[in-house]
Amino acid sequence: MTPGKVLFKALTKQSTLKERVAAIAAVLQNIELPNAYSKHEKVAVKIHVGEKKNNTFIAPEIVRQAVRWIKSKGGQPFLTETSTLYKGERSHAINHLIHAFNHGFTYGKVGAPFIMADGLVGNSEIEVAIPGLIYKSVLIAREIETADALVAISHPTGHMVSGLGACIKNLGMGLASRMGKMRQHSSVKPIIKSDLCTLCRLCIKWCPEDAIIERDGKAFIIKENCTGCGECLAVCGFDAVAYNWGVGSADLQKRMAEHALGVIINKKNKCLFINVLADMTEDCDCLAKLQKPIIPDIGILASVDPVAIDQATLDLTRKNDGVDLGRKSYPTLDPTVQLEHAENINLGSRVYELQEIS
Ligand code: SF4
Ligand code: SF4
Repeated sequence: MTPGKVLFKALTKQSTLKERVAAIAAVLQNIELPNAYSKHEKVAVKIHVGEKKNNTFIAPEIVRQAVRWIKSKGGQPFLTETSTLYKGERSHAINHLIHAFNHGFTYGKVGAPFIMADGLVGNSEIEVAIPGLIYKSVLIAREIETADALVAISHPTGHMVSGLGACIKNLGMGLASRMGKMRQHSSVKPIIKSDLCTLCRLCIKWCPEDAIIERDGKAFIIKENCTGCGECLAVCGFDAVAYNWGVGSADLQKRMAEHALGVIINKKNKCLFINVLADMTEDCDCLAKLQKPIIPDIGILASVDPVAIDQATLDLTRKNDGVDLGRKSYPTLDPTVQLEHAENINLGSRVYELQEIS
């Protein structure tokens, strides 16, 4: 495949799991990666296992096809993800892996082990130099940088902050370390909600900067010492740590694109991106609720260009009723900001050629 080319296998409007499995197998059969994984390279397969109650995440049976394909090309695949900043089933490696197991991502079902990319609590990271317009370096989950190659399987949805959550978001937010996520998300430091704080002192113990002290019988953050790493948010079991997710959508999208560049910049010709345009919902799979698709299923895309595949995603979703997935979900947000910025930093190209597989 050459950059800018996007393979496409159509699905029926309410596709079955069997049809999706057949479609991804057909797409993978048509991918040409010369000398792919010829030295038993370790291939990270980035997935999203869906939060509790979510049932529209990409099924293990679909991921299994990618695992098989990687093995057939000589690679050693492992499933991977990072911890979330928010409370939920995926806030650290232990609950994340148990949750992944409960959602069917077992070795027996998928054929590859699950290795957290950012360690036990999301702080295993590496600083990667990039020629960004905002950052000169970004913090990426360590095992992603360690892996030889990457296959990112993304489920396009709307998103309450970035408008569109697809390949660029799956890379930039999904594979940044906790601190990397914080840099994208929050322009301010966390605060302690004193009415919820029980002074259990766990955050005081965990804060790497000794930025949390006891004051008036509650935990208190000294802003000058805080680096915004998010550890206190992760360890507090009482929802007493709060962030201002106040960075505007455009800023967040640009920061996301620059982190995506950090994920792939040292993997030239070693990345493949797959977008599964099925069960597309207003919000992403991080929300712990059942959601209904807001547009009919379209198909499965594959490309070596993360910008081209997201542009194709917007364009194909626009064909249904004239409104793309991002704008249909959040009309006031402009999801093209991430694509324009990604193109400006040479993450990929918005100009692409769609090659449909019959
Ligand atoms: S971990 Fe939460 S409840 Fe415990 S002291 Fe810190 S803010 Fe308070
Ligand atoms: S964000 Fe990190 S540095 Fe800041 S108070 Fe919380 S644990 Fe400490």
